[in-house]
This record gives sequence, structure tokens and C-alpha cells, in this order.
Amino acid sequence: MIDQFGREINYARISVTDRCNLRCRYCMPECGVKKIPHAEILSLEEILRVAEIFSRLGIKKIRLTGGEPLLRKNLPSLIRRLKNLAGIEQVTLTTNGVLLKNLAPELIAAGLDGVNLSLDTLDEKIFADLTRRNFLGKVLEGLQSLDKNLSLKINCVPLRGVNDDEILKIAASAKDNPVKVRFIELMPIGCAWESGLKGIPTAEIFSTLEKSFGELVPVRQKNSLQGPAKYFRPKNFVGEIGFIDALEHKFCGSCNRIRLTAEGFLKTCLSFDTGLDVKNLLRSGVDDEELAEKIRDAIYHKPKEHFFEGATKFQMYQIGG
Ligand code: SAM
Ligand code: SF4
Repeated sequence: MIDQFGREINYARISVTDRCNLRCRYCMPECGVKKIPHAEILSLEEILRVAEIFSRLGIKKIRLTGGEPLLRKNLPSLIRRLKNLAGIEQVTLTTNGVLLKNLAPELIAAGLDGVNLSLDTLDEKIFADLTRRNFLGKVLEGLQSLDKNLSLKINCVPLRGVNDDEILKIAASAKDNPVKVRFIELMPIGCAWESGLKGIPTAEIFSTLEKSFGELVPVRQKNSLQGPAKYFRPKNFVGEIGFIDALEHKFCGSCNRIRLTAEGFLKTCLSFDTGLDVKNLLRSGVDDEELAEKIRDAIYHKPKEHFFEGATKFQMYQIGG
């Protein structure tokens, strides 16, 4: 559907849990998340009901996220059922990869279309310090286990003094493999404020990469369901390099997405708390028509652009990235 600013909204990110098996310093406090009773998290049936309404309103792509989505029981079954919804063209997953090795075959059999794997460093010590867990080996095994036909993106948040000397190495993963390596600017939300970590502007990463790999040639994306990343290909690269410059150049003018938190809040902008308490409606016995009307109204009023300076009470692990 089209919102009040003429943007086509066709992409929903659905968080299936706010729990995680890592504690990335820019995302989650060391003590983890306040344990929300399971009853407060949307059930798979509730997620499917909302997703069916999303699809009627023009959502074509669903990304499952978290917290760590692979911690959610019966995820393959959810994927299979989402894929069966009329109008849903793609179901993808954003994961830290720790549990990927064991689950990958089932996820692929369920029809998963793509994986975004978050990987900020290839150095065991830095990984353990940044995520407060010693799981780099598991993540790399998970990465290896993926079917080569599955669309793969690697997400990296460049951090000053942490992984800046690994940027070239991480980008080089796209040299001989058909993957998209994406550099995401650190967004000042929740823990990222308090962590003391400093992001690196996209322009700086871009120029570092050009110095080493030569000109980065823009690549037009065929897929209209693409998010805010801009993609480039250095000569001799099979894969692509993407940039999400959340701060310098706001991507809001072409934003096509909405987010559903694990607790059932429809968040229409990353940085504002405007939206709709879908769980409350679901559990108060609302019928599908009324629910669809309320969701349509919330999406229509999606804010024009983000404003990070302290505008949201949500943490990134609740929003799902
Ligand atoms: N646990 C999964 C993972 O890490 O991929 C999915 C959820 S995580 C919140 C989704 C993405 O958000 C990750 O790629 C992570 O790096 C990114 N992220 C978390 N906090 C961020 C921040 N403050 N700024 C930019 N990206 C952030
Ligand atoms: Fe967990 Fe992902 Fe947040 Fe890291 S970024 S703490 S893996 S939810």
C-alpha cells in the first residue's frame, strides 16, 4: 500500500523473539533482556494472522529477525506457512549464525529465500569482546553450511578502533563468491548510545575500499523489494558491496518497510514509537476486517523520516534491526 508520503510499503520485518545468545555491545545489555513471559510474545498463529493481513495490504517480503530468530521454536514451520500466503514473494532471515549449522537444512527445506548473516569481525578475540560470547567458530561453521544457491548477505557494522582494519578482508568475501557484503552505519539507539562505540561513516569506508579495489561501480537492483542499501561492484568481483548510510544520507524517502516487534507492536519507523498495539487488538477479539483497517491506518501515517536523537524507547534487539 501507499503511505501518506507516496511511498510503497511492501516489506515487513517481523521479530520472533527478543532473546539472544549473543550480547553485542551496541545492541544488548550484558545481562541480556528482561525476561518477558512467553504469553506476552506473539504466538506463531498470531504472527501468521497478522502476516496474512499484511499480505492483503500489499506486503510482499517478510524478513524474520529478533533478538536471535533461530532461538524461536518451530521457525521452519512458520517459514513454510508464511511462504504459502498469497502475495508473499520472499521470506528471509537475519541471524547471528550461531545456530545456523544445525538448522540450515530445515530452513532451506521450508522454502527460506535468503539469509542475512551478521558478522562484524573475523578475529576470535574481537568477536568475543564485541559479542561477549566466544562463538565465532560456530558462526563460521554456520556460514559454511549454507546452500550455495541461497541468497546470502553479510552485514557488518564498522566500528572505530574495533574492526576498522578488517573492513578490506570482510569486503573481500564478495570477490569470488556471489554474496552481498553490506556495511551498516552504527545507529545511536539504546545500548549503542551507552557502549561508547563509534561508528565509521559510509563515505570513509567507501573511499577505503576504492583505494584498495579500484572504482566501485553502482549496481542497479532488479528486485523492487530491496531495502535501503546501495550496491556497488569493484572490477573482478563476483559479489557486491552494499552500504546502508543511516545517518549521513537518510534513506527515509525510499523506505518501504514496517516492523512488528516480538511483543506485537507494529512500529512504522525505526526511530519513533508511533504505530499500533497489534497484540492488544488481536487478544481483544477484533475481527480481521477491523484489524486490517487499523493496520492500514497506522501504515498510512508512517513518519516521514527518522530522527535518532533519543526518540525511541526501544532497543535494537526489540526492533530487529
Ligand atoms: N540477532 C540477529 C543478528 O544479529 O543478525 C538479528 C537481529 S539484529 C538486531 C539485526 C541487525 O541489527 C544486525 O545485523 C546487527 O548488527 C544490527 N544492529 C544492531 N544494533 C545496531 C545499531 N545500533 N546500529 C546498526 N546496526 C545495528
Ligand atoms: Fe543479538 Fe543480533 Fe543484537 Fe547481536 S545484534 S545482541 S546477535 S540481536
